[in-house]
Amino acid sequence: MSKAMIELPIEFIQRMKERLGSDFPAFFKTYETPPAKGLRVNTLKISVQEFLKISPFPLTPVPWEPTAFYYEGERVGAHPYHAAGLFYCQEPSATLPAGLLQAKEGERVLDLCAAPGGKATQLAAAMNGEGLLIANEYDFTRARILSENIERLGIKNAVVTSCDPARLASFLPAFFDKILVDAPCSGEGMFKKEEAALLHWSEANVRGCAARQKNILDSAVAMLCGGGRLVYSTCTFSAEENEEQAQALLARYKELSLVETRRLYPHEVRGEGQFAAVFVKSGEERYSPKPFAATKNGAAEKAFSAFFREVYERAPQGTLHTLADGRMLLLPEGLPPLAVTTLRTGLEVGSWDGKIFKPAHALAIAETGALKKIQLKKEECGEYLRGELLYQNVENGWYVVCVDGFPLGWAKAVNGALKNHYPKYLRR
Ligand code: SAM
Repeated sequence: MSKAMIELPIEFIQRMKERLGSDFPAFFKTYETPPAKGLRVNTLKISVQEFLKISPFPLTPVPWEPTAFYYEGERVGAHPYHAAGLFYCQEPSATLPAGLLQAKEGERVLDLCAAPGGKATQLAAAMNGEGLLIANEYDFTRARILSENIERLGIKNAVVTSCDPARLASFLPAFFDKILVDAPCSGEGMFKKEEAALLHWSEANVRGCAARQKNILDSAVAMLCGGGRLVYSTCTFSAEENEEQAQALLARYKELSLVETRRLYPHEVRGEGQFAAVFVKSGEERYSPKPFAATKNGAAEKAFSAFFREVYERAPQGTLHTLADGRMLLLPEGLPPLAVTTLRTGLEVGSWDGKIFKPAHALAIAETGALKKIQLKKEECGEYLRGELLYQNVENGWYVVCVDGFPLGWAKAVNGALKNHYPKYLRR
């Protein structure tokens, strides 16, 4: 018996034999090889063509997603281009569902189970900064990681929430044009990558996951507007969580129709297991709530405008909202009022203490066209990302620190020394 045969649950092996028949040996053999490594180019920051020219790692295209690549190499996440948000490390098969959603500029898009953010950041890139993306994650600790990834990739039009899908649905019925439900599942397709999925697997857990997915899908359908598109995906093989779940959904909602289902098997593609089903909803129902009322603060906005004009080559645009604690946000278009736990709303530009405006890390990462910038060589980036002081003879003031022109964060020049403002929570 091979090593893989001992580690995989016997009931799982039996179920896969029944499902795959003569294909089972080829499937089983895939457990002998390590998972394929993938990354997705963040087209909010750089085109695929440009990234291919500067990529430090050899790349091969992933057939089903034009921005995704297999890479060779180690410690890819330690490269300064990662900190600059040029790419997101993503399992190749996991790039399928967000592509199927066909999110577009200007739409209202929801990623209902979004952490750590592979698919949410992919949807944001498809939206190209236009419209409203709500990325929700039930687990608050995971929502924080999601929020950091949204920030690192320079996404300006996302709101990161952390709540139960049913609660979100109570505020936003028939609101979204596109919804992705990348559901919590038994993770059978991730056994090679995540030991926890293997340890927690049981037939009872498969049934438990299916029941939870049904509830999440009910909330998703409630939030989808007439004419809207829903993608349901899992990284598991069980029919209970995939085809049977999709059929049960169609039986519950006559207004839904199935456009297509897709399955990726590791013995058929270079990638792990993935399932996706695409639905559309008939009708014309579309809820348009009163927009969120921004709180204006004249002095804070004046200070921000003055700062922005000094550091960037143009004037700021969009609706500013100043929170009671002085943090200032540029709001996404069409933001509705939301009484749920929210970790990020649009682009945090900085904070105002009544006297001084201090820029936020998110602003440095998301904005382009800085006039005041410090260009680091790749070998100098480690010092900056560790939070060390940099010495450069520049005029006093704020500077965007860049690698090859791509922003990494802020530094403030004071009498010849550049004080490092790379956030402590990100330092290496
Ligand atoms: N879409 C994510 C990505 O691409 O990075 C991966 C999402 S993961 C497959 C499923 C997520 O659902 C997990 O982050 C998990 O915490 C969350 N989740 C767990 N229970 C949930 C529930 N009852 N309702 C909604 N989401 C839940």
